[in-house]
Amino acid sequence: MRAQPKASHYINGRFVDDEQGAPLPVIYPATGETIATLHSATPNIVELAIEAARAAQPAWARLKPVERGRILRRAADILRARNAELARIETLDTGKAIQETLVADPASAADALEYFGGAVASYTGDYVDLGGPFAYTRREALGVCVGIGAWNYPIQGAGWKSAPALAMGNAMVFKPSENTPLSALALAEIYTEAGLPDGLFNVVQGYGDVGGALASHEVVAKVSLTGSVPTGKKVLALTGSLMKHATMELGGKSPLIVFDDADLENAIGGAMLGNFYSTGQVCSNGTRVFVQKALHDRFVERLTERTKAIRIGDPLDPETQMGPLINKAQHDKVMSYIGVGKTDGASLHYGGGEPKLQGFENGFFIEPTIFTNVTDQMRIAREEIFGPVMSVLSFNDEDEVIDRANDTEFGLSAGVFTRDLPRAHRVIAELQAGTCWINNYNLSPVEMPFGGFKQSGIGRENSLSALALYSQEKSVYVETGDVASPY
Ligand code: NDP
Repeated sequence: MRAQPKASHYINGRFVDDEQGAPLPVIYPATGETIATLHSATPNIVELAIEAARAAQPAWARLKPVERGRILRRAADILRARNAELARIETLDTGKAIQETLVADPASAADALEYFGGAVASYTGDYVDLGGPFAYTRREALGVCVGIGAWNYPIQGAGWKSAPALAMGNAMVFKPSENTPLSALALAEIYTEAGLPDGLFNVVQGYGDVGGALASHEVVAKVSLTGSVPTGKKVLALTGSLMKHATMELGGKSPLIVFDDADLENAIGGAMLGNFYSTGQVCSNGTRVFVQKALHDRFVERLTERTKAIRIGDPLDPETQMGPLINKAQHDKVMSYIGVGKTDGASLHYGGGEPKLQGFENGFFIEPTIFTNVTDQMRIAREEIFGPVMSVLSFNDEDEVIDRANDTEFGLSAGVFTRDLPRAHRVIAELQAGTCWINNYNLSPVEMPFGGFKQSGIGRENSLSALALYSQEKSVYVETGDVASPY
């Protein structure tokens, strides 16, 4: 199986390479085979990309917003037309089941391009009446922005960052995760085909050091990172010391609360989506599933039945529902957490094994796993595992579960399942989380702001909030009379 792109990087509207850069093998997680080899960016490549962005940005920012938007919307149409091909690249890069990537990944990037392409023309400044004189505000581009992506949603991440940045008149240099370098290159080609002027969306590959070099570059005005909390802290410290804008979309250990009046099948469906989709590698996952005592046993019984039916296997088979983890390191980390859960006294209720699948013996597969009898202080209930491992905890009443749900350093997401709607809103209002769901889980439409409280991050992606965060506000006072000067 090969998925070799034309070159490693995409700068100024074309593919470029510098073979002096450290080799960057692309591994298909289902088989462990190398499907492409790229090169990490050298300092020369980083400079070329930043310079291309810097040179292209001012003319782009001067275009009418509706003209910028038209190009983004054209690119969205091309993404949709190539959905099957792009989904295949995403599956080869991430190992996620093709039945997911066909509906969730390029489609979500296309949604972002379409939404921001349409919204930006209406994203206007204010008029302020000062009783004669007046003021108005302008929303101006920041300049060159850097996007740094995680490996779980590569093309979505590239779309979610580049669409609001470009819509507002910025240029972007995007660094995908070293694990998933392919689909951002495909997006770059599509932007060019849609008519985006050269230099406005550039892709450079590399490890953390390349991300660091981009984030600290003097030309760069803003960095938007999706990644873990430790990486986010490092990059935020760096950008803070250089007074750059920053958006941090980081990890979580989110609570999903199921009251005993909830629709059982929907609550279980939500809990499974929030733990097993993308093989559990989703930042907003509700990995602490709090179930009210009276419903707990029925919930676990039916959850187990439905979990047993999950089809693990060849990610390219449309029948497969769960693929492997991204790489060996992540696989080993998740297996070690399963060991920690057992040692700490939780009951391994289902899964926890490494299925050996014919033809995929070297893949990084782990069964969907359910722990019961989990208590709040156990490590599996406190630390982000980033794999298909659900912890089920039980609770008695509303006040208790709110306290326990909030007892975490993270604050990305939260969910509540109940038929009692006043209670749903009351509980959500008390939860310390940036992105919440009532009677569903993990849906992130582009119209809705997405981001975290507490250690889970700063800033928001999607919605008009993202346009605010990719722009700066200029206030203009306009005098209509004389200057009242005492001198
Ligand atoms: P990492 O934090 O390891 O890496 C994120 C990105 O930052 C990668 O591109 C990485 O490059 C780069 N990077 C690493 N070190 C530095 C540095 N010093 N300076 C600049 N860039 C750097 O996260 P993962 O890729 O492992 O992704 C998983 C994490 O992402 C989880 O914690 C998950 O919760 C979080 N996440 C958050 C989301 C959100 O929206 N809140 C969504 C998706 C994931 P390299 O790949 O080479 O290490």
